[in-house]
Amino acid sequence: MKIAVDFHLHSKYSGATSGKMEIPVISKEAELKGLDFVGTADVFHPLWLSHLKKTLEKIEEGTFETGGVRFIITVEVEDNRRIHHLIILPSLSKVKELYEEFKKYSSDIDKDGRCHLSLGGNEIVERVKSAEGIIGPAHAFTPWTSIYAEYDSLRDCYKEYFDKIDFLELGLSADTDLADYISELKNLTFMSNSDAHSPWPHRLGREFNILSVEEKTYSEIVKAIKRKNGRNFVMNVGLDPKLGKYHRTACIKCFKIYSLEEAINRKWRCSCGGRIKKGVYDRIMELKDKENNHPDHRPPYMRIAPLAEIIALKRGCKVFTRGNTAIYEKFLQKFKNEIDVLVNVEYKELEEIDKEIADFILSYREGKICITPGGGGRYGSLNIMTRGLDNWII
Ligand SMILES: [Zn+2]
Ligand SMILES: [Zn+2]
Repeated sequence: MKIAVDFHLHSKYSGATSGKMEIPVISKEAELKGLDFVGTADVFHPLWLSHLKKTLEKIEEGTFETGGVRFIITVEVEDNRRIHHLIILPSLSKVKELYEEFKKYSSDIDKDGRCHLSLGGNEIVERVKSAEGIIGPAHAFTPWTSIYAEYDSLRDCYKEYFDKIDFLELGLSADTDLADYISELKNLTFMSNSDAHSPWPHRLGREFNILSVEEKTYSEIVKAIKRKNGRNFVMNVGLDPKLGKYHRTACIKCFKIYSLEEAINRKWRCSCGGRIKKGVYDRIMELKDKENNHPDHRPPYMRIAPLAEIIALKRGCKVFTRGNTAIYEKFLQKFKNEIDVLVNVEYKELEEIDKEIADFILSYREGKICITPGGGGRYGSLNIMTRGLDNWII
């Protein structure tokens, strides 16, 4: 069977997250989105853990459920170089074990859902592995709190534990075409996750993975990550990397985009006085050590925007407002969920609800969308193509 999984999100107990990030809301929104499985997030936080225990039913070790959506135990941690790592754990007893161990190295493990540890990446992997967990770098290319912001190679961070890394999370500003320019990543499974801080449909599941498994369980998901017994990731689905906040090198104050050369010449100062931040695209071009031909195991990456944003764009708004919910709901009432609308439903059926939106979804599926790239902390934006293909703004 094929399942849609979003491994990375945050509870209301992580910094800068919505107070709505509680299990009943997450589960309801995940179902509307069409996600079969989502991460619990933030599992070391004591109040969140007791909320999880109250709201989730255990199906088997490591697999939980509520309202038809399944949950896998996940947490993101920050290491002593401020690099973020995503962890998946097999059971609540292992959560307790690792929490006790990490507590020795953390002053905020009881306060912040995404806790800081005074440990290096290699020391974190060592401990996660002795708790039988799965680990990989989170949003690996973002210019803040990521592994490639700090190091030129995963080996510099994970050292003797490099071979124990199970996956790499691409982050919103990168995709497989970009990441496969780097040879040390060829054996790693790539994840595309939302890192959602609010449950709404343009955040939760804005990126997700489609896995081929036998059952909806933790152990099957682990096999897919490790590509064992025919289980694997069959598709990464996510934003066009140009829509990510840090895709291009740009000023963090006025968002003016610069070439890498220009940024260096200007000593990373914008004409407005703001700081220029190196974008994911330029960072990957610096790290590039091969052509971006994909290894045989690499699944396709489908670029798609959340339906809410497509509807907002069609109606000429930049953001998803209340006025747009009626049409969104019409789509969801007719079809099973948003992922089906975006990926599977035939054009003819979509057209019956709204021709313009159907046209837009089709252009998206065919890669015919014009995008103004993001950078400096501002998301890129979608534009309806009004000119010929040759005039796309890249
Ligand atoms: Zn993070
Ligand atoms: Zn500026």
